[in-house]
Amino acid sequence: MDKIISLTRRRGFILPGSGIYGCLSNSWDYGPLGVELKNNIRQEWWKRFVLQRPDMVGIDGALIMNTNVWRASGHLDEFNDPLVEDKKTHERYRLDDLLEKNGVDVAGMKIEEMSKKMKDINLKSPKGNELTEPKMFNMMFETYLGPIKTENNKVYLRPETAQAMFVNFKNILDTTRIRLPFGIAQTGKAFRNEITPGNFIFRTREFDQLEIEYFCREKEWEMHFEHWLSEMHKWVKHCGISSKNIKDYETPDSDLAHYSKRTIDIQYKFPFGFKELYGLAYRTDFDLRSHMEASGQDLRYVDPETNDKFIPHVIEPSFGLDRTLLAILLEAYREEKIENGERVVMRFPYWVAPVKVAVFPLLNNNKKLVKKAQEIFDMILPNYTTQYDDGGAIGRRYRRHDEIGTPLCVTVDHDTLENNTATLRDRDSMEQIRVDLDKLLDVLDKYFTGEKFNKLGKIIK
Ligand code: ATP
Repeated sequence: MDKIISLTRRRGFILPGSGIYGCLSNSWDYGPLGVELKNNIRQEWWKRFVLQRPDMVGIDGALIMNTNVWRASGHLDEFNDPLVEDKKTHERYRLDDLLEKNGVDVAGMKIEEMSKKMKDINLKSPKGNELTEPKMFNMMFETYLGPIKTENNKVYLRPETAQAMFVNFKNILDTTRIRLPFGIAQTGKAFRNEITPGNFIFRTREFDQLEIEYFCREKEWEMHFEHWLSEMHKWVKHCGISSKNIKDYETPDSDLAHYSKRTIDIQYKFPFGFKELYGLAYRTDFDLRSHMEASGQDLRYVDPETNDKFIPHVIEPSFGLDRTLLAILLEAYREEKIENGERVVMRFPYWVAPVKVAVFPLLNNNKKLVKKAQEIFDMILPNYTTQYDDGGAIGRRYRRHDEIGTPLCVTVDHDTLENNTATLRDRDSMEQIRVDLDKLLDVLDKYFTGEKFNKLGKIIK
């Protein structure tokens, strides 16, 4: 993890938030390469789960919603974590975390039981001090709408993207031709005032979610649950995450969220242990029913054939974008022995890589080479994210691009000026081929759609 944190900082993927002011704890900014990585993941997810499926539509809802939304969804009453404080240092901890670290199975435990257990085992803070009585702490961030700070104007930043999809269920039925079973997807920021954020971008107080609410008939929920579980696993594989680092954790009934009848956490083997990467929940008709009761609006679905009216049930595949990015970084990172030393290489799947192609003139003080390299750069740029790089020896430029996971480097040398060919070098195999520049764009298309590298041009030994 330390190596990932250092590489991502050094190369401008992920930077400590508010750095020039001594940072803000557990806040991170995505830099030039990080934002590309993040955009690539979001866009690929959207393409796969929204654009390429006839049964899905997307929305982009507001971050701040009417407080009644959070009352009906249960967040105002239920979105709590048990908080304890070190009596000496005043540091705060989640009691369930502390108990778990001391070997207590907290599944299904209410705060009173945790409090009793805490006394039974004489639980101390990680600093060895006495702890306060636990109290429930609501994780929603509060703010006020407009200039006057009164209870009536108090609103919350959304702690999940899900609710806008339930609230818009009827609007979507009325404004599209979509019919059951179908899903609504949304990506965007969610905010949670976590008591113990940490582990780099694993747990932060603002993060991006990629969520789907899939509406179906009650009797079909198991089928759709299985379908989405399988889709989530396929996605994980597509991200280049090895199945040996993934496991499904079936949440015991006693530990299910207030809205869920079945939840599977897809866990990833992070350096700090197997932890939740994604969640898949069967939310029953809880949300639509609660919003229907609270708003007084009829949110039932009318079957176009039988005219039956009923409240659809919901399967929710929920993905964290930042956790996906972290897992992808951890999986892609390799240290490899090579002929003259060692290299660090990010073996990203091509679609993930923030830069797809790098173009180098062999020498940066030869005007003809520089001009030609720039022409090639200009030709590739509209098609693939490309960087022009003329700093240092060629070997160093390769290392630099290995480290940020650029799949392909194009080098322009003296022969290029003679015969209009250039050297292409493959990140993973480090093989090199010679390619006719008239065919370069075609070769790139083939390369990025998976054609074998040595079939694309003349191999250079
Ligand atoms: P955890 O148990 O780790 O707190 P959760 O069960 O509360 O997670 P969900 O409410 O299911 O998480 O949120 C859906 C997804 O959003 C999670 O699977 C995770 O990928 C992501 N996520 C949740 N909380 C955070 C956070 N604080 N920082 C980054 N990502 C998060």
